[in-house]
Amino acid sequence: MELIGFVHVGNTFNERLIARVYRKVNAYFKSKYLPIRLVYLGELELGPGYLVNIQTKEGSVKGYPLEGITELLHASLIHKQEELMQKRRIREERKEDKSKNTSRMNKIFGIVNFPLVSRNPYLDFYEKFLGIQQNFHDLRVMVISIKPFEDKNEEIFEKRLFKGILHEIGHAFGLDHCQNDCVMNPPKLIAEWDLRKEDFCKECFLELKENVEGKND
Ligand SMILES: [Zn+2]
Ligand SMILES: [Zn+2]
Repeated sequence: MELIGFVHVGNTFNERLIARVYRKVNAYFKSKYLPIRLVYLGELELGPGYLVNIQTKEGSVKGYPLEGITELLHASLIHKQEELMQKRRIREERKEDKSKNTSRMNKIFGIVNFPLVSRNPYLDFYEKFLGIQQNFHDLRVMVISIKPFEDKNEEIFEKRLFKGILHEIGHAFGLDHCQNDCVMNPPKLIAEWDLRKEDFCKECFLELKENVEGKND
């Protein structure tokens, strides 16, 4: 099983909604017989110093520096991996673990409640709805801001976020963007995103399945 650590960064979240989306993602992978699961790791606290002010056409807004967030997520993934390894060693010593446990966690997904800003000026997060995915050797860090998905209608908000999470997980398993009615087809406008079906297209799904199963030996 490919486990993906799931954390929310900072508070002031609609936790019920996040929990629903989390369950929906896992139910999706389960229904498709894909060995991928999110594992909730709790909240990652940030000091107030993490928020920065940036200037946009609409005036000054607060955001999280992308590089700081991905470093933090990377560190907590390593920490979690060490914890899991230690637990496994203890079980092996006690000979409790007779099953061949091949689960691993080398990916982490962070969800943040402020816009993401970057020192890298070509990344304009105000025009991008989806998150980013960064590699640290064989570790993958995914991060998404809920800001662009927000809507008064929780059902719409939930669907947008669900598709956004599938999109980033797709990238983490080697998928590129596609042109079909598919979560891997990035939108230019949020209205476009609302029209996308809540699924991978056939081609992307097959590629994802192959990539996951190939790695999961
Ligand atoms: Zn993308
Ligand atoms: Zn596709």
